[in-house]
Amino acid sequence: MFISQGVTHNDALMRCDNDLESVVKIMGAIKHSYLINREQALSLFYDARLEQLIECSSYLRNKFRPSILTYSRKVFVNLVNLCRDTCTYCTYKKEPGDTTISMLDPDKVLTIIEVAKRLRCTEALIVTGERPEIRYKEVRNWLRKKGFSTLSEYVSEICEMIIKKTGLLPHTNAGSLTKQELYTLRETNASMGLMLESSSTRLSGKGMPHERAPSKHPKVRIKSLASCGELNIPTTTGLLVGIGETPEEIVESLILIRSLHESFGHIQEVIMQNFSPKKGTAMSNYPAPTKDYFMRAVALARILMPTMNIQVPPNLNERIEDYIDVGINDWGGISPVTIDYVNPEHPWPPIDFVNQVTSKKGLLLKARLPVYPEFLKNGRSYISQRVRPSIEALANDEGLVKESYLI
Ligand code: SF4
Repeated sequence: MFISQGVTHNDALMRCDNDLESVVKIMGAIKHSYLINREQALSLFYDARLEQLIECSSYLRNKFRPSILTYSRKVFVNLVNLCRDTCTYCTYKKEPGDTTISMLDPDKVLTIIEVAKRLRCTEALIVTGERPEIRYKEVRNWLRKKGFSTLSEYVSEICEMIIKKTGLLPHTNAGSLTKQELYTLRETNASMGLMLESSSTRLSGKGMPHERAPSKHPKVRIKSLASCGELNIPTTTGLLVGIGETPEEIVESLILIRSLHESFGHIQEVIMQNFSPKKGTAMSNYPAPTKDYFMRAVALARILMPTMNIQVPPNLNERIEDYIDVGINDWGGISPVTIDYVNPEHPWPPIDFVNQVTSKKGLLLKARLPVYPEFLKNGRSYISQRVRPSIEALANDEGLVKESYLI
């Protein structure tokens, strides 16, 4: 089992040697807007006290992303939950014959989206497994009857329908897509999502969580993320923390995202998602990351990318206010309509509760669109002509959701 093959998060922290002098020097450099390198980041991960990291990361959030925390009012469209890959922590993926299989026809999607519109959602999160048509004849036949040969063609049709009939903004997360597929989907999506999860090739090795998930190989993910950059697609990515990676691999993953953004300018947010063990999976007994370890990872995301939008999902954590302290500026999508089909055992907290928690920390909670305001203002064209009218109907002058829409 991979647990014994890697350095686990708890083992890693035992390397801490409290080299506080170098920590203080690095912190000083950060406050003078110095972007730190891998070794400096690792020194912080291992040697800094958590309170020092919090002080530094919240300083940077307050400097570069002051006053407000955002969330996206969304509906989760569980379009097709079969997948050609097998990740050892996943319960989203189903097999033909499972009672919770989902292969949604356009009329079902429309019904869900219309409810979401009545409840003032702005984001239609379209989620599918990775290229299920390669593995399952059931999906191939279903698509063929509709006139499609690939799932990505069907996703494009669904997004077109959503924009045209409801004006909600699609944000598709359909796995590692080709540049041509991304080019097509860009026309009908406000932004797109692809988690890097980790840049570690070790996690794709024998007995590791991504051994049977070719689409999770970092080379494949990086290629798709770079294609998003070449196509000017506002892109959400992030890390899955606690699946057997080392702190070195966390830091390398964050630096890789930073360099993709330096090359293309297209990463709109970085999700820091903590692994949560699920019954019935090969990793059901693998321990969740400790809060200390996860908070260090989140702090490092802010420290390595001071101006980036950094998100922690509020449904996967206790005491969510602690993540405000550690430098996040976004809670991600919260749905008043559907469950989180990837983490169905973790309901989203009510938006009123998130609002209270945020305001107790002296910050304002505001609803954002699935595309961040800076991608609307920027001179480069990140948004297709097809999507622009819906954004104009929903956005206020700040590029956030119009207050009048939410009433
Ligand atoms: S690629 Fe996604 S849906 Fe498929 S098994 Fe892995 S986590 Fe689950």
